[in-house]
Amino acid sequence: MSKKNKKSVYLQYIIPVVLIAIATLVKFYAIAGFGYKIPYLLYFLVIAICGIYFGIRSAAMALLSAMLFSFSIYLVPEIYKGIPANTYILPLSFFLIALLLTMVIVSRLRVNLINKEKEEQFKFLADAIPEKIWTADKTGKANYYNQEWYEYTGYKTFQELHDQVWLLIHPDDLKKAETTYSKYLLEGTSYETEVRIKASDGNYRWHLNRTKPKKDSQGNIVLWIGICIDVHDQKLVADAIKESERQSNELLEKMDEFISIASHELKTPIASIQGYLQIMERLVNQNNEKIYIDFLAKARKQLTKLSALIQDLLDVSKIQEGKMQFNFTKFIMSELVQEVIESVSTHHPSHQFEIRTNNNQAMVTADRFRMEQVLSNLLSNAVKYSPDANKVIVDFSMVGNKMQVAVTDFGIGIPEKNKQYIFNRFYRVEDTSYKFTGLGIGLYICSEIINRHQGEIWFTSELDKGSTFSFTIPAERSQ
Ligand code: ADP
Repeated sequence: MSKKNKKSVYLQYIIPVVLIAIATLVKFYAIAGFGYKIPYLLYFLVIAICGIYFGIRSAAMALLSAMLFSFSIYLVPEIYKGIPANTYILPLSFFLIALLLTMVIVSRLRVNLINKEKEEQFKFLADAIPEKIWTADKTGKANYYNQEWYEYTGYKTFQELHDQVWLLIHPDDLKKAETTYSKYLLEGTSYETEVRIKASDGNYRWHLNRTKPKKDSQGNIVLWIGICIDVHDQKLVADAIKESERQSNELLEKMDEFISIASHELKTPIASIQGYLQIMERLVNQNNEKIYIDFLAKARKQLTKLSALIQDLLDVSKIQEGKMQFNFTKFIMSELVQEVIESVSTHHPSHQFEIRTNNNQAMVTADRFRMEQVLSNLLSNAVKYSPDANKVIVDFSMVGNKMQVAVTDFGIGIPEKNKQYIFNRFYRVEDTSYKFTGLGIGLYICSEIINRHQGEIWFTSELDKGSTFSFTIPAERSQ
């Protein structure tokens, strides 16, 4: 205990004694003219004052001293001869009653004082918070608004604000706010609602109003407390995000629709052109016109590319519509790998393909056409994205009962920040997309095909060093 505290504790006990002594003296000497009686009323006053200001211990001290003083008056009759020494019953009963009364009054007054102190603390805290806080009595009638309310609305007094508070709510939100408030007032439960509240400049801002009832130990509501949090900026941002999400979804839907229509429209004439070209090639061939043959071969090569592109677009539509069909057969993986390498090599003679395997005769049950598509995509990407290298490694090996394929290139690699999006539809690494042609759908289709084979697809990549795209599929179909 500090020195100062010790001093005030002493005072708590000394002051009652001194006050009681003064009361006795006042009664006997200063106002003797009013009648010679024990100063019960003055004592009572002193006890009450001590109790209120210093607590119950101080009141008890005052009571004890009053008792001693008055008894000593009785016990020493020469001090005051007006009262017979045996009438101690009267002061004794006074003290008992005084004791009870003092305790009741003191405890009530102290409770009031404590409550007032708590109330002030609450208001201090509430005023320091930069959100709008209000309280209401159990009937829902508001009885307090914190400082922020006055600052936000521009009203100066409680009554002004109280009279206008419902009118500050945006007319479009008012009905909802009123019904919610009466509903929860009746139910006696917490609730949240979003409303726009008018500021002093006449503009409305969105607020999240959280209201909670405070209940006593019997579960009766004693007060309602509400906090209105300004969520205007977050709400605008969230609304803008929602709107842009809606727009981009709409755009994607439109794009899918367009791809589907366009690819169907393009496919038929291209197939006819390809047919005519083949016939022409044959005819020109017979006449041995070398130059025509070269041009026709080039035109056919471009058409094949175009067909593949349209096929990819059609596949995206099929995936979106959940209509991609699979036709599972059993085949030798090495044969397929060879075929794909040959086809990719004819289009990209710049690169050498190195095959690695732990089982050259391994069989898999899968959709051969779709597997060819995946391999072709990975191999073409490996070549396309390694313009300064000349080697691609294709490793296909049995790992347990799975076929694992890995295509490694020594090219540009993929930056860390882009890695998570690589399998997304229409995604291309923006830093390099302008250098390489493509639509950003190849890997999306690959991942869908592998997933539909109950397999997994992933990659590792290091910027400027190269990438390895791998996938596994079960060698056997489970059903
Ligand atoms: P694209 O037609 O653009 O090649 P893909 O879906 O096949 O579409 O690939 C998506 C993106 O992933 C590419 O645009 C490219 O940025 C990146 N990518 C794919 N494969 C590789 C690779 N082997 N090396 C580096 N980047 C790659």
